[in-house]
Amino acid sequence: MDITDTAQQIVSGDRRALARAITLVESGRADHRAQAAELLGALPRDRQALRIGLSGTPGVGKSTFIESFGMMLTGQGMRVAVLAVDPSSARSGGSILGDKTRMDRLARDPNAFIRPSPSQTHLGGVARRTREAVALCEAAGFDVVLIETVGVGQSETVVAQMADLFLLLLAPAGGDELQGVKRGIMEMADVILINKADGDLKATATRTCADYASALRLLRKRPQDPAGFPKAMMVSALEDTGLNAAWDTLQELAGWRRENGFFDRTRAEQAQYWFEQDVRAALLAQLDEREARANMARLGAEVARGDTDPALAAQQMLAALGFNRR
Ligand code: GDP
Repeated sequence: MDITDTAQQIVSGDRRALARAITLVESGRADHRAQAAELLGALPRDRQALRIGLSGTPGVGKSTFIESFGMMLTGQGMRVAVLAVDPSSARSGGSILGDKTRMDRLARDPNAFIRPSPSQTHLGGVARRTREAVALCEAAGFDVVLIETVGVGQSETVVAQMADLFLLLLAPAGGDELQGVKRGIMEMADVILINKADGDLKATATRTCADYASALRLLRKRPQDPAGFPKAMMVSALEDTGLNAAWDTLQELAGWRRENGFFDRTRAEQAQYWFEQDVRAALLAQLDEREARANMARLGAEVARGDTDPALAAQQMLAALGFNRR
């Protein structure tokens, strides 16, 4: 792959070049990693998409929402990319978004780009690659990048590290229990959308929305929020209601954060986070190389036999990896 050509093709909106580049960043091969880093470094930095993280448990209506919301945005002339962080794909072998029929209208829309989650063995790897795919989509000139994840705790945290805004999708539910939504996830949400506010579910949705609105008011005020945020709202992805209001709300929040410096500050912190994650990941990957594994096994056995002290063996191991402290 010619890096300069590919970077130019991506910037000019060539979807196949974008897809190839995402395949490159998803690869675990060392030479591909180096090329991916070069490509990411060669991209222009003057384009900015609104990056929206979206989380919700299976069945809550994420794909229905993404399709309706995405179609609304492309209908307004915007270009929309959809990516996914799916920690379950390693186990199930499938992946969210993998089944394109879930969003077939959006998938056919020339102003939309849908990319399923890469299948990876660990969340860290998927997260990093998704972050890089976001950067590629941004350089390709998308106005909005939606990053979907299923609600299984850790994955929200990593999506929050690559999103400007975080949406939590919930279903209407009776009872006063807040659907067992973990406090940490609620604290991460900028906007909670109660989906399926239609038909027989409308009344329950109204109650659920009120419950969450009061729960959100009890949370500690965050500096990055204007008055009234985080917010709970009702939508129906099926009937296309509330979607415009949700978009207006997201834009209002993003605008406020831009004006008050929080938008750029968050991005700066995120960039630093991913830099550090990359260094850590690369160092850990060194331990997985064949020679290192053999050294670890040998020194580990010596330590187990009591022939060597663990501290000394660790120093020897680090020296073998090229970390000479003195
Ligand atoms: P996901 O697993 O979170 O991606 O959820 P899906 O988008 O696949 O939706 C799960 C089910 O909920 C499907 O049967 C949808 O038709 C239904 N659903 C999604 N959005 C709505 C909505 O706004 N109203 C109603 N009544 N059903 C919905």
